[in-house]
Amino acid sequence: MEEVELSPPHPHEIRIKVFSSSLCRSDISAWESQASSAIFPRIFGHEASGIVESIGEGVTEFREGDHVLTVFTGECRTCRQCTSGKSNVCQVLGLERRGVMHSDQKTRFSIKGKPVFHYCAVSSFSEYTVVHSGCAVKVSPNAPLEKICLLSCGVAAGLGAAWNVAAVSEGSTVVIFGLGTVGLSVAQGARLKGASRIIGVDTNPDKCEKAKAFGVTEFINPSDSSEPIQQASYFSISTYSDPSWDFEFDIEVHLSCLFHMASGMGVDSHSRCTKSEARDVCPLWLVAYGKNTQGNHIWRVET
Ligand SMILES: [Zn+2]
Ligand SMILES: [Zn+2]
Repeated sequence: MEEVELSPPHPHEIRIKVFSSSLCRSDISAWESQASSAIFPRIFGHEASGIVESIGEGVTEFREGDHVLTVFTGECRTCRQCTSGKSNVCQVLGLERRGVMHSDQKTRFSIKGKPVFHYCAVSSFSEYTVVHSGCAVKVSPNAPLEKICLLSCGVAAGLGAAWNVAAVSEGSTVVIFGLGTVGLSVAQGARLKGASRIIGVDTNPDKCEKAKAFGVTEFINPSDSSEPIQQASYFSISTYSDPSWDFEFDIEVHLSCLFHMASGMGVDSHSRCTKSEARDVCPLWLVAYGKNTQGNHIWRVET
């Protein structure tokens, strides 16, 4: 634990008393500096709920005492991307990778005058944090703050994947590789959209019962087979899926997603690409057969 100083909110920023913050895999990846350059000292955390403690000049949409969720991909609501209706990657408040605030490229945290860098311009592993007002969303004061922090990243990502990107429809068959928070939320989203088969793939046998509670109808553990994952799951899944997802980018798993999709109909969607060697892989021959692979940034969820 470290004592840090936090400045008051600058214009168009709010200071939040953090109530709950969950640990997302992206925090760990960034801590291990797998996907981005090493920026330290730094405060991680980007999936949080809290209460507005103070507001900066020009903030009109929040008041002290409002209950909020942080949003690591903010919205200015005026740039080309925000007004397109097709993208949630704001050109002004999009994902911040340099450890500073969007507006002035400086930090609000410090220790004895030395900067402590941010993560995704949220930094919720602290008692208080400052975010741009476009990087928070107001929620009902009746919503349980200790639970809804998951909506700030993982749950919203999964529901958005099912609803906005793959647009799961009645009677769809979906395959989900990886049953963490995001994968389980995809299952929940697919169930709400009427998918008839929801196949969950995970190497952890403990996920089986949990996944069924979220809507998974069939569970496959690739470790139960001596065959490579593509073979094992290919022969277990008798029909091709419409959409499929891979939530922990792995080349073998990603290729398996593509194998399983119906040509010209499916959407293979993966959440992150942290391993440098994975960036060199592009299974073009599968794309040529009408398979769609699509990168997603918090699955087009907008606030
Ligand atoms: Zn996250
Ligand atoms: Zn924008």
